Amino acid sequence: MSEIIKRKNSQIIGMNLTELEDLSEEFSQSRFRGKQLFNSVYKQRTDSFNNINTLPIVFRDILLEKFVLHPLLFIKKTGSDSELTQKYLFQLSTQEKIESVLMYEEKRVTLCVSTQVGCAVDCKFCATAKMGFIKNLTAGEIIDQYLIINNSIDKEITNIVFMGMGEPFLNYQQVINAAMLFNHKDGINLSSQRITISTVGIIPKINQYSEEGHKYKLAISLNSNHQKQRVQIMPISKTHSINDLIKAVWHHYKKTKRLVTFEYVLMENVNDSIADAKRLINLIGDLPCKVNVIPYNEIDGPFKRPSEEKINKFVNQINNSNFIVTVRWSKGTDINSGCGQLAVLES
Ligand code: SAH
Repeated sequence: MSEIIKRKNSQIIGMNLTELEDLSEEFSQSRFRGKQLFNSVYKQRTDSFNNINTLPIVFRDILLEKFVLHPLLFIKKTGSDSELTQKYLFQLSTQEKIESVLMYEEKRVTLCVSTQVGCAVDCKFCATAKMGFIKNLTAGEIIDQYLIINNSIDKEITNIVFMGMGEPFLNYQQVINAAMLFNHKDGINLSSQRITISTVGIIPKINQYSEEGHKYKLAISLNSNHQKQRVQIMPISKTHSINDLIKAVWHHYKKTKRLVTFEYVLMENVNDSIADAKRLINLIGDLPCKVNVIPYNEIDGPFKRPSEEKINKFVNQINNSNFIVTVRWSKGTDINSGCGQLAVLES
């Protein structure tokens, strides 16, 4: 129990440079020690305070006594048939569990991180929604998914997608803090173009994101081509309408000149007809963007993946448009680690 209390209040991973400099000062060390600590944690990716040789022993002892390094505890890894996708299960210091998915694709190693335990958004087709909302993750709990996994594999993770459990823009500040830590040049140093944040479309937060001028890639789970249909599968559209969403993306483009990627999960007899494709083209108009079609990954429930023929017809239809179209055939569906299949149902 004492370990849990200790873990809860004093985790080093997740602290930014200023916080580590302040912490060093608090324990009568120079601010430079904070820089060294930052470097050891995020760049050298040390696994123990004992190994940080650059710090004086007295400071290392303070860290050992008063802090823990990792906010997360690794529980288990599940490999897919192809071994190109792996699902990792972690436990928070408050006992809840989360999942992350690691995907190997040629030279790219992509980690899909969770941002919340469960999700409040209630998209009708998504497994995470079935968990309900349990809690927000801290920046440390988000970053630690990367640090623990990266330390345990032979290759280096090259890309981060905030597309695991949860809605990133309902945990905005912690997600941005985590993205900044992924990107920090004296730490993990992943380019902003290798970091993607995906949202269902929380309009005020998209606007805030555009105003703040962040450079990380933005993806939006559109999944529909008109308001009535979107309300049915994504009830959040009652508050954040599809037209307001398109306006917010226009604003983002004008402000940043960066292209958003719309994700469009293709579900049989829901949004996969030729008429749907035409409405989608009309909805987007000449908004500069990309569209990523995701054939539905089946979970318990009424939704089905369209046949390959129907998927191809839909994609061919929207290929006649101004935007760039890609198709994401999710990996790891045999271990329930495809898009929208993450749900920790075991206790
Ligand atoms: N809440 C955020 C982050 C999760 S990203 C968001 O929705 O953007 C997960 C992506 O997988 C989203 O684009 C979502 O629409 C999609 N998705 C959800 N359930 C799915 C399923 N069963 N099959 C395929 N994609 C799914």
